[in-house]
Amino acid sequence: MTAPQTLALRGDFPGVGDWHYLDTAATAQKPGQVIDAIARAYGPDYATVHRGVYRRSADMTIAYEAARARVARFIGAASPDECVFVRGATEGINLVAHGWAANVLKSGDRILISALEHHSNIVPWQMVAERTGAAIDVVPLTPDHAIDLDAMAAMIRPEHRIVALAHVSNVTGAVLDAARAAEIAHSVGAKLLLDGCQAAPRLALDVRALDCDFYVLSGHKLYGPTGIGVLWGRAELLDAMQPMQGGGAMIDKVTFQRTTYAPPPGRFEAGTPHIVGVVGLHAAIDYVDDVGLDRIHAHEAALVTATREALGQINSVRLFGPADAAGIVSFEVQGVHPHDVGTILDEEGVAIRAGHHCAQPLMDLLNVPATARASFGLYNDADDVAALVRGIERVTRIFG
Ligand code: PMP
Repeated sequence: MTAPQTLALRGDFPGVGDWHYLDTAATAQKPGQVIDAIARAYGPDYATVHRGVYRRSADMTIAYEAARARVARFIGAASPDECVFVRGATEGINLVAHGWAANVLKSGDRILISALEHHSNIVPWQMVAERTGAAIDVVPLTPDHAIDLDAMAAMIRPEHRIVALAHVSNVTGAVLDAARAAEIAHSVGAKLLLDGCQAAPRLALDVRALDCDFYVLSGHKLYGPTGIGVLWGRAELLDAMQPMQGGGAMIDKVTFQRTTYAPPPGRFEAGTPHIVGVVGLHAAIDYVDDVGLDRIHAHEAALVTATREALGQINSVRLFGPADAAGIVSFEVQGVHPHDVGTILDEEGVAIRAGHHCAQPLMDLLNVPATARASFGLYNDADDVAALVRGIERVTRIFG
């Protein structure tokens, strides 16, 4: 077995300890630095933003906007104003779908997604299709369960107005060649939205180099708090986008006759925002950047290789996804339901995800009701892989 190096950062994560936590694709454990930042933000630093005339509120406003600037730097945005704080990737995709696509698309237009998308990147587009009369096309997968960009190039048409793809699949870990996807989308004038939920914690990001038009991510997958995420959009697209929610903070001027909206990003942040979530996200980005995404990616790639090598030697295990998957290995133990696999592994102190991973169409395509999924974070090491493999060997003994 290739022995992955440890990053020796496990001690930073009070939620991990000696637990073999292999469900980071669902949500990442939090380092003490993030937990401390949250405690400070709810404690001695706590105040509202954007409204207070007193010192602490002004400081919190500065912290809130500093987090936006940090996000912009982290993802390579041209300006912090292109970064909208949302609840998570789901809300980000819905905002683009309902705020932009639903106003731009009309009957005869088409939406392009892929066969491996998360329900968050399927259902909002179905809603838009229903509202506008647009149709949805689905890019097929390669034999190793990545998005088939040759097939995409062959099927794209001028009627396609928006293409929405996972940057990294939450089921197969396949990494999209985003720049090529952008080139194909732009060849017909379509916009490209990337669902970066699984990519943001695993790959160094530069939205301008990727040449996409919208990018979404969730803070809780990036070692930050739940309830906070980011929608990045090109300035001119955000300018053209309608808010989904009206209320405080998103307005320019309100009268009973007419209301004008604030410019982006405020236009899309109605109400008191998730102040502490934003501060926690800032701390998470600082933490991840200090470790270095290239190191994290290399570390997780080694864990994936070790896992695939070891599980591949067990006859009844069928692996899904490409060998160069980013941090995620989906598999089935033939003849055993993934829920039973997950339950037995739990008895061994190994936490994996068993289910459809919010990708039911992909399960249909793989012809399985569910898969078992081991997903890695920067705190995992070779011991976690060994525990997983021991657990799977026990599963095969129990089920004969
Ligand atoms: N897209 C992908 C690829 C995901 O993995 C997830 C979370 N499992 C989502 C979207 C939705 O993210 P959230 O629930 O944080 O909004």
